[in-house]
Amino acid sequence: MAQITNSMPTAEMQALDAAHHMHPFTHGADLGKKGARIITRADGVWLTDSEGHRILDGMAGLWCVNVGYGRQELVDAATRQMSELPFYNTFFQTSHLPAIKLAERLAQLAPGDLNHVFFAGSGSEANDTNLRMVRTYWELKGQPSKKAVISRWNAYHGSSVGSGSLGGMKGMHAQGGMPIPDIHHIDQPNWWAEGGDMSPEEFGLARARLLEEKILELGPENVAAFIAEPVQGAGGVIIPPETYWPEISRILKEYGILLIADEVICGFGRTGNWFGSQTMGIEPDIMTIAKGLSSGYLPIGGSIVSSEIAQVIGDAEFNHGYTYSGHPVAAAVALENLRILDEDGIVDAVRDRTGPYLQKKFKGLTEHPLVGEATIVGMMGSIALTPDKDSRAAFEAESGTVGYICRERCFANDLVMRHVGDRMIISPPLVISEAEIDTLIERAWTSLDECHAELK
Ligand code: PLP
Repeated sequence: MAQITNSMPTAEMQALDAAHHMHPFTHGADLGKKGARIITRADGVWLTDSEGHRILDGMAGLWCVNVGYGRQELVDAATRQMSELPFYNTFFQTSHLPAIKLAERLAQLAPGDLNHVFFAGSGSEANDTNLRMVRTYWELKGQPSKKAVISRWNAYHGSSVGSGSLGGMKGMHAQGGMPIPDIHHIDQPNWWAEGGDMSPEEFGLARARLLEEKILELGPENVAAFIAEPVQGAGGVIIPPETYWPEISRILKEYGILLIADEVICGFGRTGNWFGSQTMGIEPDIMTIAKGLSSGYLPIGGSIVSSEIAQVIGDAEFNHGYTYSGHPVAAAVALENLRILDEDGIVDAVRDRTGPYLQKKFKGLTEHPLVGEATIVGMMGSIALTPDKDSRAAFEAESGTVGYICRERCFANDLVMRHVGDRMIISPPLVISEAEIDTLIERAWTSLDECHAELK
């Protein structure tokens, strides 16, 4: 039997890793030079690496371990389902109880008339589904010219060719022939970096109106949908000014264009409500879900779809699906995860107790000389590092240089924080306690001090 143990010396694991394992979003040469940090166990908000360090995971894995590590209920749900029915598909008019129950629960939790779920294995796959679904919807409605989808620069919607095209990451577009045709991008509502002399409110309106300009340029009869994260995550936790979403909603209604809210990060309590759309006051036609749906314990994603779209699509055969759409073990784990989020009061805590506590402490980081702004909603936040707070200046060094130094200092201080350019991000497990929040902030402060000293 192939056994995986954690008993191999770190250097040996690193050498094997560098020799055979190709990592996502990692420079291969770095692996050869320094070796990967190897994580062996985790519990609550704490990771343990192969050298025995206890590391506070300020990123919930990849924004996904919402209920924290080590939840035995999820292990049990997986084990039970594995023994009973480890796999069956949901193609060709077959189904099984885990997928049925999970779809029912998601329909209960989702706002408005978002009552139908199409499952996928990941957020990327779900966004590929959405792209095909909105175009198919308009074709079936007799408006086949409505094909264009508008997104934002610096959005992240996944890594497949479809979802990577929907995203607005220029470094990704530069590799492998993206974006595919009929995807268009407008500028993001990032006031700190791009707002110039405008107030955040003026800037929010100005950026929303770029959507109207783009719709008019393309012709509303050619535009199928607008896709956006309620709060951009991988782009740097960009919380839009308050004027932004109301104006976007007005424009979409006026021109009859669908809204796809990508809830892959914002969903399942991250912003203090079940969905970021509720926090931002928006009414999407489709929501993309993944990550916190199973707290990352097993891969699963999907699209929660309005009754209107589901009915139109359901009147024909949608020639689309993934082997693992509604995978029974992943679905059983997700269902149990939703129970925990609900019955343990985790979403409530993010809204009313530990969330506000984290927000207060996190905003205190603006007193550090390197930190320009600290912006946070629920339990997703970021700080902008700057050499001059008043002018919101960028560093002379290439963007990301200082962020990288700071991230490395965090690592050395046993704290996982991620950097996007020169913004530092947190998105901890939603079960983080007040004492752990204090530790997170102390370690972040120490790391900022060390980074500051290194820059002098
Ligand atoms: N959408 C958003 C907003 C994301 O943040 C991500 C992943 O980070 C995705 C989609 C893609 O999800 P996955 O990595 O599960 O394909």
